[in-house]
Amino acid sequence: MVSITPESPVASVFGRSPKRKLVEEGLGIHTVGELLRHFPRRYVQTKELSEVGTPEVGQLLSVVGEVTSSTVKTFQRGRKLQYRTEVRIRTNGPSFSLSFFTPHAGQASSYAEQMPLGSRGLFTGKTKIFNGSWQLEQPHHLMFGDGGEDQSLSKLLPVYPLTNRLYVWDLIKVIRVALDLVTDVPDVLTPALRERYDVLDVMTALRLVHGPDDYAQAGAGQRRFRFEEALVLQLVLARRRAAQRALGAQARTGGGGLLAAFDERLPFDLTAGQGEIGEVLETELAQAHPMNRLLQGEVGSGKTVVALRAMLRVVDSGGQAALLAPTEVLAQQHHRSISAMLGDLAQGGMLGGAADGTTVALLTGSMPKAAKDEALSMLSSGDAGIVIGTHALLEESVTFADLGLVVVDEQHRFGVKQRAALTGKAGTPPHVLVMTATPIPRTVAMTVFGDLETSVLTELPAGRAPIQTNVVPLVDQPQWISRVWERVREEVAKGHQVYVVCPRISGDTLEEGESDQLDVDEDGEVTTKKVPLAAVEDLHEELSGGELQGLRTAVLHGRLPADQKERTMRAFAAGQVDVLISTTVIEVGVDVHNATTMVLLDADRFGVSQLHQLRGRVGRGGLPGLCLLVSRAEAGTPARERLDAVASTTDGFELSRVDLEQRREGDVLGANQSGFRSSLVTLRVLRDEKTILRAREAADELLREDADLSAYPGLAAAVADIEASQHSEYVDKS
Ligand code: ADP
Ligand code: MG
Repeated sequence: MVSITPESPVASVFGRSPKRKLVEEGLGIHTVGELLRHFPRRYVQTKELSEVGTPEVGQLLSVVGEVTSSTVKTFQRGRKLQYRTEVRIRTNGPSFSLSFFTPHAGQASSYAEQMPLGSRGLFTGKTKIFNGSWQLEQPHHLMFGDGGEDQSLSKLLPVYPLTNRLYVWDLIKVIRVALDLVTDVPDVLTPALRERYDVLDVMTALRLVHGPDDYAQAGAGQRRFRFEEALVLQLVLARRRAAQRALGAQARTGGGGLLAAFDERLPFDLTAGQGEIGEVLETELAQAHPMNRLLQGEVGSGKTVVALRAMLRVVDSGGQAALLAPTEVLAQQHHRSISAMLGDLAQGGMLGGAADGTTVALLTGSMPKAAKDEALSMLSSGDAGIVIGTHALLEESVTFADLGLVVVDEQHRFGVKQRAALTGKAGTPPHVLVMTATPIPRTVAMTVFGDLETSVLTELPAGRAPIQTNVVPLVDQPQWISRVWERVREEVAKGHQVYVVCPRISGDTLEEGESDQLDVDEDGEVTTKKVPLAAVEDLHEELSGGELQGLRTAVLHGRLPADQKERTMRAFAAGQVDVLISTTVIEVGVDVHNATTMVLLDADRFGVSQLHQLRGRVGRGGLPGLCLLVSRAEAGTPARERLDAVASTTDGFELSRVDLEQRREGDVLGANQSGFRSSLVTLRVLRDEKTILRAREAADELLREDADLSAYPGLAAAVADIEASQHSEYVDKS
């Protein structure tokens, strides 16, 4: 008998089948090992008809159905007679018609024989609506038979990720062959580890995952691969944490009186959370290894005060602190508000400044050269204890006398690499505090930011006004849009300001996927009516000459020159603009207290977390906020459900779960943020919360006993693999 190993090419299990190329090119699978790790996305039970919700038109669908009618029709094509076998199937959902065309009478009746009334099978095809009923175009079928020739098909059927012209059963067959022939499949989990963590060996797990008798078996197999993936990941992260600790840092233990003087003048009491996190930061800053902490909290939860207090602590210890902001507007805003909070404490060395004071410098790209040079010299001399800046802070010419703490605001705009560029400017590694307003569920924080400890500010400071959010559905009530603009006028009449956010800049061209609305014409053919998405420039033109005539409107989007963007944002902040029509460029941290209302057009185009972030721009000044989610999405669609979720709660953590559940997690695990190139394969951070937690404990345990994993060469190799790919990614990008 031939024996093959995981390294053997897939050709060794395909024989003469032309499908090999599809697997290689379409799925990127080249070895038997890769083929065996092409796991089913789900399973279908051959005994039950598929639950089909409302399919989308044009989708490649695989369903288990039962034949309810089967007829052969003839028709003339040119001078030739053609046969069409029409089969109807029922599912646990809509019925579908399938047409099999052939020029041969014999083949037509063989189709009919293969699919007699009442028989069941797996049917695959592209969904389409014709004459008001669902069709599967270019259909393919695999009948189950009743325990006939192929017994194994009467169990759970794995459904694999596929590619064009490759069908589920092609993979089922070839994977079965591979499982029969393969030997020497290495197991990164040694017998001792498998026993300790109660998971299956790799061969058993592969057999169960690809050919289970029931869901329990499939689950047991999956569990082993999920644990394996989680363990390797957590080992990498734990090693990173250990390496981080091994780097010394200067302990910043205070000494000066700046922080105390600041606390003295703070016009409000810290919330309990702010106080607690403040103590944690103080303790960590006093340690001789770098603090590396993620501070999460909703917009307005008071993260900046927490960060500022940590910065002051470092200045009190004779060091400097830098705050990195993602945009010029935000850097300026931080600079203004921090200078204001510090008052005369920010005028160190100046006449009238407090004795304990320091200087707060600003450094952004658009500053005049003279001002920039002055800031640079204050940083290198140490005269400025605090600097607030943009990417300009990362430039080579920036040097510090003694950089002790780096605070990164809104983590999402900065990757690991940028963080490193700044921390590299310190003599010894500085302490790092990352702030983000995007709530991140615990497991995500652990997986993605595994080398960061996390703190969460959960309560909002007193006096924050609630935001009322309503969905404005335009499908059945298109006239409601007028009411939206009327509402905007009312707000402006009260002296308030309004944001209008659109998904696009201009409407000159339709973008792909922008064909939302389906129309069924008289022939029953589905046509797509192109409906352009709301676009900033067009909308501005339309509104300023129409519904919002007479109001002071302005536009803002990413394609405008930087100075124009700045000017517009400043004018809006100064109350010189009533309605700002923009793309999501206003997303991050902008703080205009007088803005009370936000209208989001085609709101279904935005992600749940993004919507939540956006609406956080209103209601910041103690005035109640209103957010209108305008959408053409129909009730009951996932798009509409997302909007309803956003309208129903202001709990960002709850919403980020909704978001995650709907998104592929690859997005969440963007290499940019985590430094991981590959996204997760079998793990889902929410579903597998327990597994990830268990793996984290296991990783700590194993490393404590055996820091080099010398007793676990398989695991060590898997860990080294990821570390190497992270390293090369890092090198590639620099
Ligand atoms: P974040 O950065 O988390 O969005 P900020 O730190 O900018 O939030 O705080 C938002 C506003 O709340 C600021 O005006 C700040 O001065 C104020 N603030 C912060 N902490 C408190 C508190 N404990 N009590 C009252 N107001 C606070
Ligand atoms: Mg902020």
